[in-house]
Amino acid sequence: MKKICVLGSTGSIGRQTLDVVKTHPQLYEIVALSAHQNVELLSHQIDGFKPTVVAVTSKDSAAELRKKTGKGLSVLTGKGGLVELIESTDADIIMNGLVGSVGLNSTIAAIQSNKILALANKESMVVGGDLVKKELEKSNATIIPVDSEHSAIFQCMIGEDPQDLKKIILTGSGGPFRGRSGGDLDNVTVEEALAHPRWNMGNKISIDSATLMNKGLEVIEAHYLFGVNYDQIEVVIHPQSIIHSMVEFKDGSIKAHLGQTDMRIPIQYALSYPHRLELPLPGLDFAELRSLTFETPDMVNFPCLKYAFWAGREGRTYPAVLNAANEEVVTAFLQERLRFRLIPKIIAKILNAHNPIKIESTDDLMVVEKWARQETNKLILESVR
Ligand code: MG
Repeated sequence: MKKICVLGSTGSIGRQTLDVVKTHPQLYEIVALSAHQNVELLSHQIDGFKPTVVAVTSKDSAAELRKKTGKGLSVLTGKGGLVELIESTDADIIMNGLVGSVGLNSTIAAIQSNKILALANKESMVVGGDLVKKELEKSNATIIPVDSEHSAIFQCMIGEDPQDLKKIILTGSGGPFRGRSGGDLDNVTVEEALAHPRWNMGNKISIDSATLMNKGLEVIEAHYLFGVNYDQIEVVIHPQSIIHSMVEFKDGSIKAHLGQTDMRIPIQYALSYPHRLELPLPGLDFAELRSLTFETPDMVNFPCLKYAFWAGREGRTYPAVLNAANEEVVTAFLQERLRFRLIPKIIAKILNAHNPIKIESTDDLMVVEKWARQETNKLILESVR
């Protein structure tokens, strides 16, 4: 029986993780959950999975939850609540399904606690990749990627010598606006942007997919997870999303991971690794698929991908600034305070204005992120004037 802690249990990754756990009750047990503020759903999950400890962000949510669930359940809250949860739980696996760079402290705490970290929170690798690597060297923790592309690469690398890796080929669907350009992107709505053609995902990542920032963040994530430099990472648009990514070796051989576009595949694999379990999904019908197609990403109309490559290559605090600015513009777009076309423009301005520093601690990151968020929000306000 493996004990599981799910961070962000009411979000898209969290709910699908609980789905997987529910189908294998003889193998997995939920011992800890965390949610931001959806107390309603969290209390249902507590009823169903009986964790011994949970964490929620605000004191009000904690009070509400204590009323609903009664005594016997430990409810943690506040700034340190998540880290306390990770440090106190006897879970074998921490599923980090948080959204945004707020997930970094949990990633680091899971590593310091020598856990298996199932990592769906790509932002923590983007902003804190250097710190995460340092912590990993001192710890017995393992990271199993949950992001579908990185899970694909991870699976392609099993049994291989990392020295033989020549190139990572990250595939992306191109998002809901693939093929659109210029004026066609001026008046796109939140609803259109959320309608991802292939994957069922949370709101933030769906907008990131529409701007291609998601692929950009994944490039930086791949750099840190697999120790490749940016010249060894190629992005290819593959609208059918059947190939989840590929790895090219020095002899020219290429391995690809194919499958249905269902996040439960990488989620379940992160829990069952190194084994595989049944998952009741239809197999691929290649005759029906007929063709798999590939294109070069359009970095003129969707420059966020280009900015991410640039920020990754520059290193230091640039990826954290890219990510913080992106989190703010995505929130503003979702709240209809910012037009879609201005998302990359504002991010570019913030990157240009940034004076990078070397990252020694999470405090350095906090200062830089705070600056980036403030400056981004100034530009968002100016854009509506
Ligand atoms: Mg992905």
